[in-house]
Amino acid sequence: MVKINSSNGDNWSGKICQGFNNSRVVSELCLAVFCFKRVEDTITQTVAGSPGGKKKPNVSFHQLQVRDTAFDRPRDWLGNRFIYAVISSRATGLSLGVDVNPDKKCNFDCSYCEVDRRIPSRAHKLDVEVMAAELRKTIAFIQSGKLVELPSYRTLPTELLRLRQVALSGDGEPTLATNFVEVVQAVVRVRALGGFFKLVLYTNGTGLDHPNVLRGLELLTHSDEVWIKLDGGTQSFIDKVNRPDVPLEKILSNILLVGRLRPVVIQSLFPAIHGEEPPFEEIREYAQRLKELKAGGAQISMVQIYSAARPGVNAEWGHLPLRVLSQIAQTVRLTAGLRAEVF
Ligand code: SF4
Repeated sequence: MVKINSSNGDNWSGKICQGFNNSRVVSELCLAVFCFKRVEDTITQTVAGSPGGKKKPNVSFHQLQVRDTAFDRPRDWLGNRFIYAVISSRATGLSLGVDVNPDKKCNFDCSYCEVDRRIPSRAHKLDVEVMAAELRKTIAFIQSGKLVELPSYRTLPTELLRLRQVALSGDGEPTLATNFVEVVQAVVRVRALGGFFKLVLYTNGTGLDHPNVLRGLELLTHSDEVWIKLDGGTQSFIDKVNRPDVPLEKILSNILLVGRLRPVVIQSLFPAIHGEEPPFEEIREYAQRLKELKAGGAQISMVQIYSAARPGVNAEWGHLPLRVLSQIAQTVRLTAGLRAEVF
């Protein structure tokens, strides 16, 4: 168990989590679920200097390649073609993903992407009827409580095995799918007939202005969410990290477009690049872009700050220390006045 002193001198993580010390997995979960926010607050208060002020991470780069937690493990397809399960820290538990682009099509080429495009796709296109049947079956399986009987879920607390969301996500960029509207319609229909769940669109933002995508978004309720990737504040940094085939300007204007229609969540992944932290000037520019979006009328309900969790195709990109992620979140709060959380 990690021990961190709170500002009043208490070892609060030990107190909150002492009931979980018998299990390594559960104690890590305990730390992640119950203590993470306070860990971040404490570190933010006690660490001085800019995110770019210190060049060497305090944990070995190679140690940070794979985090040994229950969260963010590889997808579990549960025998399905288009529906998979993950235990996600950002979803605060079980998330079912819809692989909207099984062909792995994406107009970004993120250096930290976990999708190995050298391996042939499992399917060319999502079959809407098969996907809907798999979704119904998988939800029924989760509701029956049988998930915990599978070996990889046996040690997890039942709280993490409650369905938190169904995510339109997968191996490619969902908004590029030609059948995007049909996919949303089918998922919404499953929900209407089988009971409510939150629907979340994970997107790199580039297709949000497409008429089909805007039609699909109209089918979402106020409880549903749109999570949009923004990994930097300058074209040069985005070119290095995301290698998009569209300019940053277009991504920002699409965030503005949808953010004016409904609240959005910004997802920002900052990887360690050859073990180095992102430059502070970049973080300042990134926070400035968020400020401009907010000033332009985008409703940003939260900014999620996190780092590469699972090993990607590129070995030189790794996980940033919590200290650096916390400083980035604090810069967002102070510059843009937005809610920013570290995952
Ligand atoms: S946007 Fe997502 S799917 Fe596309 S390259 Fe980046 S991480 Fe991979």
